[in-house]
Formats: sequence, C-alpha cells, structure tokens
Amino acid sequence: MTDLERIRHSCAHVLATAILRIWPEAQFAAGPPVENGFYYDVELPHRITPEDFARIEAEMKKEVKANHVFECVEVSRDEAIQLAKEGKLAALGARPEASKFKLDIVERIPDGETITLYRNGDFTDLCAGPHVMRTGNIGAFRLTHVASAYYKGDENNPQLQRIYGTAFKNKTQLDEYFAMLEEAKKRDHRKLGKELDLFAFDEDVGPGLPLWLPKGAVLIEELEKLAKQTEFAAGYQRVRTPHIARESMYLCSGHLPYYADSMFPPMELAEGDEAPTDKYYLKAMNCPHHHKIFDAVPRSYRDLPLRLAEYGACYRYEQSGELLGLMRVRSMQMNDAHIYCTEEQFEDEFNAVNEMYLKYFRIFGFEKYLMRFSTHDPAKLGQKFVDQPELWRKTEDMVRNVLIKSGINYVEVPNEAAFYGPKIDVQVWSAIGKEFTIATNQVDFAVPARFGLTYKTRENTEATPLCIHRAPLGTHERFIGFLIEHYAGNFPLWLAPEQVRILTIGDDAPLVEFAKSIGQELRSHEIRAELDISTDNIKGKILSAEQAKVHTMFVIGHRDLEAGAVSVRLHGKGNVGAKLRAEAVAEILDAVRERRG
Ligand SMILES: [Zn+2]
Ligand SMILES: [Zn+2]
Repeated sequence: MTDLERIRHSCAHVLATAILRIWPEAQFAAGPPVENGFYYDVELPHRITPEDFARIEAEMKKEVKANHVFECVEVSRDEAIQLAKEGKLAALGARPEASKFKLDIVERIPDGETITLYRNGDFTDLCAGPHVMRTGNIGAFRLTHVASAYYKGDENNPQLQRIYGTAFKNKTQLDEYFAMLEEAKKRDHRKLGKELDLFAFDEDVGPGLPLWLPKGAVLIEELEKLAKQTEFAAGYQRVRTPHIARESMYLCSGHLPYYADSMFPPMELAEGDEAPTDKYYLKAMNCPHHHKIFDAVPRSYRDLPLRLAEYGACYRYEQSGELLGLMRVRSMQMNDAHIYCTEEQFEDEFNAVNEMYLKYFRIFGFEKYLMRFSTHDPAKLGQKFVDQPELWRKTEDMVRNVLIKSGINYVEVPNEAAFYGPKIDVQVWSAIGKEFTIATNQVDFAVPARFGLTYKTRENTEATPLCIHRAPLGTHERFIGFLIEHYAGNFPLWLAPEQVRILTIGDDAPLVEFAKSIGQELRSHEIRAELDISTDNIKGKILSAEQAKVHTMFVIGHRDLEAGAVSVRLHGKGNVGAKLRAEAVAEILDAVRERRG
C-alpha cells in the first residue's frame, strides 16, 4: 500500500466509526482503498444520501481530532468468531446482532493464518492493515458519493450501500484534487468537441464511430504531418494496407480465435458458384498486414532495420456500454509502425523510438510522464508468456539497458508483459494533472516466426527478425480527446483549426481590400486564415473570435491601413500591439514552422 492508500484506508475505519455513532446497528463488509479514494460497504435500514454527509463528516472530524492510535491486536480464530458473534467487529462494543459479514469473512480465513484486529478509540475492526499510526494522521478527507453493491459482488447476496470518500495528506492537496475535477469537467472533450465543432456522433452511422468535422479533421491532418515529417527523418517508409483481410491471416497472427470478441463479426463472401464461403474481417490491428509487406519481397540483412509506417485504420468491437466519447471508440486511426531488425540493431532502434516519444512530449508540453516497463514471470512461461526463456531474458535486458542509459523516467512491472514480448506503456499527465495512457511500445519475438518472416544473413543463412511495435501518438481518437482536455481547446498556433482571423473595423472598400490581401497571403502559405469583414461592431467580432478560440486576431482599422500594419490580439491574452504587416505574417509562419507551444 502506498502512503496515500494507507491514509485512505484508515479513513474508511474512521468513516465506519462515525456511521456507528449515528446508526449503531450498521453492519460493515469490506472497506478497501480504491483509485482516488476509498469506500466502505455498509448494510443499514436508513438510506444514506449526500444530505447525511455533513453529519457523518462531523463525527469523522471528532475521531480524527481525538488522534486515537490504530492499535493492532492478534487474535485466535475462535476469539475472532466469538467477537463477531457478539456483534463486536466493525462495532463500538457488544451489540444484539452478530457482525454477520465479518463473521462470514473470519470463517473463510484459512486455518493457521494470522488474524488481526485494529482498534481506534472504542471502534474495533477485523482488518489485515496497514494503517497510519494515528487517526490524526488523516490530513483531510471528504465523502463523495453513495452507490449500491452486492456483498462480494454476487447478486444473490444482500445489497449494501457503498459509501465513497477520499482523503489526502493535507487540505491543500484535497482542495487541489477537487479543483482539478472541476476544471476537468469544463475541459471534457465531449463538451468542447461539440462547442468547437470538432467531431460528432450520429445514430445512423453507429455508436463509437466518430465523424470528424472540418475543424477536427485539421487536428488530424496536423498530427499526421508531424508524424510523417518525424518518421521520414528517422528513416521510416510509409505503406498502405486495406481495411479488411481474410480469416486465414488472423488465424496465422493468433488474433483468431482469442481476440474474436473484440473484432467485428466476419463478412461472408462466396466467390463464384462452387467456391466455399470465405470470411473477411475488419482489421483490428495493423501488424499482420505489415508482416505481409515484410514478406512480400525477399529480404536480406541489408534491408534491416526496416521501418514500415502507416496511419492505419482499425475497427474494434467495444461493448456499447464501454463506449466513451473519443476515448473508447469502434473505429480508430493509429500512428502505427513496425520496425524489423536484428538483435544487434535492437538497442539503437528501441532507443530511437523512446527519443521520438520524448520529442513529442516536448512539442505538446507534457511535463510529467512515466514509462511502465512490463516484464514476464518465468513461472508462467508456456502459459501466459511464450516459452522462450532465453529471448525473454535477452530482450528484457536490452530494453532495461536502453531505459537506464537514456535516463528516462520508468518503473518495472513484473508479470504484465504481452504474450509475445516485453512492453512499455507510456503514461502522461495533462496540464491539469489528469493521467492518460498514451500508447504502447512492444517488443515482439514470437509473431515474426509465426508468419515465417525471414531474411538472409551476411553468412547467407535464414534468420527471423525481431519486431518493435510502436505508436507514440496512439490513435487520433484518443490522442485528440486527450489534447482537447490538455489544452482546454486552446490549441497552439500550429494545431489551431482557425489560426488567424482578420477583423476589420468597419466595411469600407479599402479596408476590406487590405484584409483580403493579407488573408490571401497567409493562405498561400497554408495558414488557416479567415476574414470577418461584416458590418458588426468590432467588440462583437472580437467576442465571436474569442468564443471560437481562434488563436490570433489581426484587427484592422484606418490607422493600421495607412501604416501598412495590423493590431495583433491573442486568444485569451488580449491585445499585444500593432505590427507591420510583413512582420506579423513572418511571426505567424515562424511559430507554425517551429510548432511553438
Ligand atoms: Zn483496515
Ligand atoms: Zn503492431
């Protein structure tokens, strides 16, 4: 348990203490820490609602203020059962009813296992711990919501009330957390996506199948431009593959039958009268298609490393209940590439991929990131992990070396590798501290062999390449969903769907001409510039540009026209002063070229 989890779980004991002071008949089941907080399951005739929170929290505060020690007592099984029967577990003392859930839990503890009780003040609970030293160590807490849950998650069991709360080391951290949640609500990509006309869903198109509106398509085009430039410079070659493939390929890749639940059901085709029916699947991954491209021509060591890149469209059959805005969709476009290389080339290639991630992080201003390096468990070779102990050891050592040498921030997580090799999940935190798993970077030493991929070595023998799967920008859908929230829709100039809007003060012909010629000049340099030459007053024009989150405004009045200048306004920052036309245009071009933040 982390320190924070310890605080939160201890707070669950304090919550139970408080509930018992108000409702002594309460029966408690489990009270673990969870992501962002804790809960305690309680059976109680009174239906707890948020209106009760203030009263419960007031009792909790007394318990925290009393600063009771969390005292650990070891008991025998018989003693624990006796206490439960007397109603004394998860209780303030003896009660007429047995502590029924605790009794059930004690009875299931295997013989010989140590049983511990924890006391804070007059409250005693059956618990394995750990806890903080004293109730006073719970710096700040808040109850958040109530849900219902069956005991042990089984609908044949009694239904309980699950009281959720959260706790932090101090009040500042608690306040920061709730402020972040508030801000995250305002930045929700589904809300901003609608307000900014970025994407839409339509029942006739189908759930989980986003339609990209022109302004959203701009984001896609710019990300692809970035990826293509970066990958070209890193020696990648681009390929194109169809969106469907025959069943036989997915049987070879191993996606079928294991992954069938996540794929759309097949299309059945009969070619010619006699032919047996053939099954085609929408592709759920690009890897098998790329393997086939590797295999399309004879390969020699001179071709390696071979880096095949594609913004590949994939389709996955997510359960409709799981769909969530752009974060969980059924169609996605992936920043995919597969690098085929020799063992000797592996470290350099893997390092270059990591460097690419870091380059992207700088561009997008992700200041906090973590690479989770998942390795195999030797005890599970042949079941959870492909049975090639030597290759596991070798590739994991190589990955670890790269991570250590490059000083990248990472943690190692045993037993979470993919079936066919170690992997790295890349987590980033948005500007407001919201966590997001951006992409996965995988080493694969099994699948190339399944596909029979080989190359001629220098010694003229046949060898199987290693394959690195990487997708630093993830899928457009998830990545843009994240960027919308990271930037709160205020995209940097290079990404902004509308980069510049030219607003005239009035609609005199010379002013309009001047505005049009600046607009044309910008558009000739592929800058997304629009004109607002309506007769509306300038305040209204500025307001509407601000609402649309246009990055830069050029405001033009007669004085600007005479000076050959424009008054520059930045979204959210206001007027930054007048500049000569050529200077203002050059600054826009520079900022876009350098993808300044
Ligand atoms: Zn406990
Ligand atoms: Zn792949």
